[in-house]
Amino acid sequence: MKIRNGTNPAECIKNARKIVLKIGSNTLAKKDGKINFEFMQEFATQCASLMEAGKQIVIVSSGAQVAGVSTIDRWGRRKDIHYRQALCAIGQVELMDKWRCAFASHGIHIGQLLLTNIDFVDDQRTLNMRNTLFTLVDEGVVPIINENDSVSFAEGRIGDNDNLSALTAIAWSADLLILFSDIDGVYTCNPKEFKDASLIETVKNICELRSSISIGTTNDFGTGGIETKLEAAEKVTNYGIPMLLAHGGRKNILDDLANGKATGTLFLAK
Ligand code: GLU
Repeated sequence: MKIRNGTNPAECIKNARKIVLKIGSNTLAKKDGKINFEFMQEFATQCASLMEAGKQIVIVSSGAQVAGVSTIDRWGRRKDIHYRQALCAIGQVELMDKWRCAFASHGIHIGQLLLTNIDFVDDQRTLNMRNTLFTLVDEGVVPIINENDSVSFAEGRIGDNDNLSALTAIAWSADLLILFSDIDGVYTCNPKEFKDASLIETVKNICELRSSISIGTTNDFGTGGIETKLEAAEKVTNYGIPMLLAHGGRKNILDDLANGKATGTLFLAK
């Protein structure tokens, strides 16, 4: 197999010019459910230094629902779809306000794209979205993407931001996708339950990986669970884009991955 773009996280980041960074709700929210602004500031600082080094960045940020609950402090337990969509409408504004502030301190503007399944299946919409992404990035603006949760419904939804970030990476022809979750990577079994779980640092064959690990239910590893991360990896690696899964909660994780001080699970591109 010909390995594209690198065989370890530091090499992949070094060789990548266009990087999609996905941040999950668990990484963005504190234990009390409030949005972790300190994390966002620190993350924006690391993005700014990558951009200084000539990298181009697109962020896929979850957290609209969490931000909605913490902002309005109501409806947290309501499961009906229209309340959940309403929470996302409220939370998305808060989320972007915080990202705007975090990047503004580095003199960087952000732009918001709210996407859903149709934007990736309708050629004209995909083209428009691609053009917007290219224009923003060329002008030094950081696009921040989320699913358009307030208008998307069951059939029209992508449903999780792991798959959304994979589709984005493909549409933008990224060189690397990094998913930040609340786990260091893929383990042989769930490390929250089993002490002997060991981190799998490199994955060449996702089918083989599926059969060799025990895949927990959703929320073992964040909103989408490990399954959606494997789906994302399958999507991008088939397009020649490697995917790195790493712990977003670790301090300076992006810098440390870039300089080889931190690791995660790297899915090698085909
Ligand atoms: N779009 C959802 C939100 O912003 C998150 C989906 C996901 O975490 O995968 O709340």
